[in-house]
Amino acid sequence: MSEVINVAAIFGEDVFNDTVMQERLPKKVYRDLKRMIEEGQELDIDTADVIAHEMKEWAIEKGATHYSHWFQPLTGVTAEKHDSFISTPMDNGKVLMSFSGKELIKGEPDASSFPSGGLRATFEARGYTAWDCTSPAFVRKDASGATLCIPTAFCSYTGEALDQKTPLLRSMEAINTQALRLVRLFGNTTSRKVTPSVGAEQEYFLIDEAKFKLRKDLVYTGRTLFGAMPPKGQEMDDHYFGTIRKRVGAFMKDVNVELWKLGVPSKTQHNEVAPAQHELAPIFAPVNVALDHNHIVMHTLKRVARDHGMKCLLHEKPFAGVNGSGKHDNWSLTTDDGKNLLNPGRTPHENTQFLLVLACILRAVDRHAALLRESAADPGNDLRLGADEAPPAIISVFLGEQLSDVLEQWIDKGEATHSIKGGVLETGVSTLPELAKDATDRNRTSPFAFTGNKFEFRMVGSKDSIASPNVVLNTIVAEAFAEACDELEKAEDFDEAVHTLIQKYATEHQRIIFNGNGYSDAWVVEAERRGLPNLKSFVDAIPALTTPETVEMFEKFHVLTRTELESRAEIKYENFAKIINIEARTMIDMASKQIIPAILKYTRELADTINAVRAAGVDASVQKEILKDVTFLLVETRNALKALSKVTEEVRGIVDVKEKAEYYHNVVRPAMDALRAPVDKLEMIVDKEDWPMPSYGDLIFEV
Ligand code: ADP
Ligand code: MG
Repeated sequence: MSEVINVAAIFGEDVFNDTVMQERLPKKVYRDLKRMIEEGQELDIDTADVIAHEMKEWAIEKGATHYSHWFQPLTGVTAEKHDSFISTPMDNGKVLMSFSGKELIKGEPDASSFPSGGLRATFEARGYTAWDCTSPAFVRKDASGATLCIPTAFCSYTGEALDQKTPLLRSMEAINTQALRLVRLFGNTTSRKVTPSVGAEQEYFLIDEAKFKLRKDLVYTGRTLFGAMPPKGQEMDDHYFGTIRKRVGAFMKDVNVELWKLGVPSKTQHNEVAPAQHELAPIFAPVNVALDHNHIVMHTLKRVARDHGMKCLLHEKPFAGVNGSGKHDNWSLTTDDGKNLLNPGRTPHENTQFLLVLACILRAVDRHAALLRESAADPGNDLRLGADEAPPAIISVFLGEQLSDVLEQWIDKGEATHSIKGGVLETGVSTLPELAKDATDRNRTSPFAFTGNKFEFRMVGSKDSIASPNVVLNTIVAEAFAEACDELEKAEDFDEAVHTLIQKYATEHQRIIFNGNGYSDAWVVEAERRGLPNLKSFVDAIPALTTPETVEMFEKFHVLTRTELESRAEIKYENFAKIINIEARTMIDMASKQIIPAILKYTRELADTINAVRAAGVDASVQKEILKDVTFLLVETRNALKALSKVTEEVRGIVDVKEKAEYYHNVVRPAMDALRAPVDKLEMIVDKEDWPMPSYGDLIFEV
């Protein structure tokens, strides 16, 4: 019998949330803090002292010994430095537990080793963490005990953003200002705030930990660098939504309990398409909270997997030949009084505000397609996009039949007179209930799809932070809103001006709409004809960060400065070079120390067999043929290994980060592929007993 879990009782029990604050803080302090959260004012130090004291008392009751400013530097993972609550020992040899307002609000981790892309020279390495009071503090429990984690932003001495969080918060302010302007034009006088809401669906793989440890590629790089396809892949689609196995089920239960305690509303879970692949989705939240939640989700998946003797792989493409993992970023705009600006209503053709919002989004995405693509670029995603059921690297928007039809009417006539209705679903079975059909079917091949009352950006990589894509979405849409408002605020006839603007935007940007099969080769050709960018790789995408249009837009809305953008581009080039270098060196290591020796051993065994068979006076031609095949592939392997070693040596001579990254992409990656090819063929020939590591079949079919 499994224990009974009272979800409502445990939900948020380790979070310093509104209920806790209301209970524990003096009324005035609570009110001041709420105002600060809602209106973004500064907190005075006396109030901060009171909050810090209560937070500490609460955390200690939860068993916390340390606090930590929890932040998101540009490494892609979260960072933390733990300080215990103890103060200087007293004369009696005892200590008091203390935590001041100053310690809550501001931290100064030395942190000089984080990438800053030249923003901080090591000799002036001051970096500060500042409390993001809009995302609640929480107590995290693990092997190191319990720690009070305080979500913070991380900035340099001169105020430049060194993290993912700061630009996200800035972009939220930008879209709030512009979206409020827009809704005011349509007569909304009550909403006081517009916030991007985001729900991030997280895909991941689970494999056995003991087998994981036998694969150096998984240990060092998070993905397999060699591996022949097993006889069965995902072609039967029998894993997708299949029954969740016992071991995985027990894992999912523990993950959920941990997440619920931390206030993460974990909602759906299911098996994904590839064997050993799964998905978890929480309920959406304001984007900065969703960002923190997603980091908590990724951390929890990894930690709980270890407790269950498994490894959670968050890499975008752990295994070639089966689906990779992504993160679907569901994005909408919600007012503080609960209106979703992306809700078309039952008759979209009459909903002018919605149509203007939609037209602005089309305009934003079309103009900044390259930048949006860049926001989801990472080295792992290069292997995923455009293959095995992942969207292509070309940005397009799926609207579906109903909205496309409304916009077409608008393009033709400057207005729309009707919306296609959904009708009733005909199942042909009289005992099944009559189902109302949505007006539009889904399209899973689109990178940016309208799904009822939100857009789903499906390009994001599974281990990547959702900060960048949302910074871009918020800012490009803020820009389009601002331009529309500039026009409309000065219009003499508002209705006429809105109609004209929707028609203009829909006409100018209709090339970005694509409702067909995004996986097809025909689309690649068609997209090129339409002039849409097709940035195939991470390295190809990075320049989009620093084009004049990008810099101008980000500076105009105070989201990122030119310097910050240039430093981010530099970090990305550097990161790419480092990642591919580790991958290449891991391949060299595995090929020289494990694979080639295993093959040598196998060829000796074969040669011995041949001699023994011959001595017995029997024909050994089959054995000889196998030996020949293996030897042929061995030569190929050895040559490819030498070639890979050579190019990874050569790259050391390149100083410029961009050039270096390009070399890794254009030269080192193909050399890696050339080494993998013969090795994967050898795996199919060599005796399984002699193969020095678990196979794909062992890894993904035996969890
Ligand atoms: P599907 O796999 O069909 O896309 P899921 O239920 O797995 O759907 O995930 C949908 C995600 O979108 C969830 O995280 C959900 O909370 C989120 N979501 C739903 N409505 C909105 C909205 N208005 N804005 C942002 N996210 C939303
Ligand atoms: Mg989805």
